[in-house]
Amino acid sequence: MRPLPPEFASYTWAPSTVALAAEVGLDPVEIVRFDGNVPAAPTPTARPGAIAAALAGTNEYAHGGFPELVDAIARYAGVEPENVVLGAGADDLILLCARTFAGPGDTVAITERPTYPLFRIAALLAGARVGADPPALTFCCRPNNPTGAFGALPPARPLVVDEAYFEYAGETAAGLIEDGVVVLRTFSKAFGLAGARVGYALAAAETAAELNRRQAPQPISGISAALALAALGSAPDVSAEVEERERCARVLTELGLEPLPSHTNFLFVPVDEAAALGAALLREGLVVRVFPDGIRLSIRDREDDDLLLDALARALDRPSAVAPARGRRARHVRATAETRFRVRLALDGSGLVRVQTGNGIYDHLLEQLAFHAGFDIALDGVGDLDTGPHHTVEDAALALGEALDRALGDRRGIARYGDAVVPMDDALARGAVDLGGRSASEVRLELDPGLAEHVLRSLSQAGRLAINVEATGRDEHHVAEAAFKAVGRSLRAAVRRESDVLPSTKGLV
Ligand code: PMP
Repeated sequence: MRPLPPEFASYTWAPSTVALAAEVGLDPVEIVRFDGNVPAAPTPTARPGAIAAALAGTNEYAHGGFPELVDAIARYAGVEPENVVLGAGADDLILLCARTFAGPGDTVAITERPTYPLFRIAALLAGARVGADPPALTFCCRPNNPTGAFGALPPARPLVVDEAYFEYAGETAAGLIEDGVVVLRTFSKAFGLAGARVGYALAAAETAAELNRRQAPQPISGISAALALAALGSAPDVSAEVEERERCARVLTELGLEPLPSHTNFLFVPVDEAAALGAALLREGLVVRVFPDGIRLSIRDREDDDLLLDALARALDRPSAVAPARGRRARHVRATAETRFRVRLALDGSGLVRVQTGNGIYDHLLEQLAFHAGFDIALDGVGDLDTGPHHTVEDAALALGEALDRALGDRRGIARYGDAVVPMDDALARGAVDLGGRSASEVRLELDPGLAEHVLRSLSQAGRLAINVEATGRDEHHVAEAAFKAVGRSLRAAVRRESDVLPSTKGLV
């Protein structure tokens, strides 16, 4: 074995979600990770249908590579296909660049400090040392991880510019590839595909050819290539994340902290005693990245970020600048061969409802149900809509039911029963629910837009509740909507906490 220099320290991963949950005695679904600099959810294009053809050919090598993906990347990046080099994430390309440009006796320069640790690891693995002049290769992280800063481009050549967070900054050094610059990018950040491991380098044609000569014969899988190609169907829109980042920065400032200006999807917040703060947040299931002089937190979405901002205020003993939903809540993931959904449910909510499954009317009906129940809900996911709405709609309802069951816990102290009569123009619905723990559904809608009855039955089955609802009217939309609202209002009454005993004469619900 060729020995590594004594100063070599290998890359250390953060512990798994299961290990972190075990450490603090929580269920893994309660853990919210703010330490990976990745979006809160996969891209909507990451669905079973996107990889079906790749799976059917997974016994084969991708003879000839992935020209379709290379072409699509070239179009996206505004270069020619011969300027593109594929890799298993930007990490793979950092290692490739180091071993292509540097070896024993060479020096590799790294411009920022602190910065992404893999540049140093790659240089030392290639046998080079890390230092200043005159470098065989210079690495520059722009925007920089972990600070989020967007620094000036150094004049050094050859220069590798790591643009893992390019989409959030909007500026690139790709225009300099004919001038000794290699740009590295990834599908792990703005495209939401970190698990697929796809990255690419942009370089002058001769440099790209030399990099490809030294690259593994097939560095990414056909399945990953299919996911990346599907994601490239449209350029990622990061405006919501950028806006949310700025909101978080404002709230952190109100807490008396001084987050560094960021051009990425994360914020670096200098703090004293970062390790103790990280540990306090972890006890609440919130995972940030701890550095000696601060914490780094990835931007997720408003509801998740508010949990962190509120916990930070408590840990620092300062008044909270946000009002996250409290009380009985659950996170749940339901994944099947046809669909995958994430649900975040708070029973004592404040009317924040978002259901996005790609099924307009049923998303609307579930939102109505949750709103009238007084729940906060975020239900996102995708299903194989190309086979029709059935799987998607049914699994969304099952996912909601399972989340409701979780959020109700042992159901101690709840009112258990609720009923409501809801008119809607020509329609009238009469509903009642029993949260006693047994599934039963008596659902009679005079008209049904298709799957409304089925959704309520699925909810009853997965949520372990009895739903009794009858709705009449002349317009199918009104009939269904009145029924969902009646079930929602009944739920609002039934989940109310009245005492801490089980509301059953048998002592069991
Ligand atoms: N470069 C930087 C600056 C990063 O922050 C990361 C991810 N943490 C990477 C590269 C690695 O990305 P990938 O998942 O594409 O290997």
